[in-house]
Amino acid sequence: MDFESYIRDVEDFPKPGVTFKDITPLLNNPKALNRACESLLSMLQGLPIDKVVGVDSRGFIFAPMLASKLGAGFVPVRKKGKLPHKTIGEAYSLEYGEDVLEIHMDAISEGEKVLIHDDVLATGGTAEAVCKLVEQLGGEVVQCNFLIELSFLNGSEKLNGYPIKSLLKY
Ligand code: IMP
Repeated sequence: MDFESYIRDVEDFPKPGVTFKDITPLLNNPKALNRACESLLSMLQGLPIDKVVGVDSRGFIFAPMLASKLGAGFVPVRKKGKLPHKTIGEAYSLEYGEDVLEIHMDAISEGEKVLIHDDVLATGGTAEAVCKLVEQLGGEVVQCNFLIELSFLNGSEKLNGYPIKSLLKY
């Protein structure tokens, strides 16, 4: 499927000079939504997965769907102060700003195999922080997968050593 035709470029969002890849047209189309989910699953090539970690907030769209299809649990990683129970945190820098990501301390058990999912890989700072959080809890990052990889921002270099897959590369 031509997934690219369902991705919309929005100029100057969320701030001037940034071209934002908007995935809502893909979500809006039943066939594209289903195919994207199936393609993300096929990229796993049967790897065993205990937990799927989704990243606040657009990672929450596909991660629970993937978890459900895989028979795995879903774990939200959220921006600081949003999770209600005991958390650990990791600071990270974004393409546009800085923040802290948190995960519940009891969300992943020692030795669990973890898939990390987010909509977009840009500079890699976010995904790198999520990998660190998972590993602090004793989880093993089996794959990081994305709908979109902005290759020109070299995010994959930050994730050196982790298997990365994406539906679309720009
Ligand atoms: P990174 O940390 O620079 O790799 O940025 C990745 C994070 O920023 C992800 O959580 C994305 O949701 C978000 N992000 C960065 N650029 C875009 C974009 O063009 N479209 C949608 N989300 C983006």
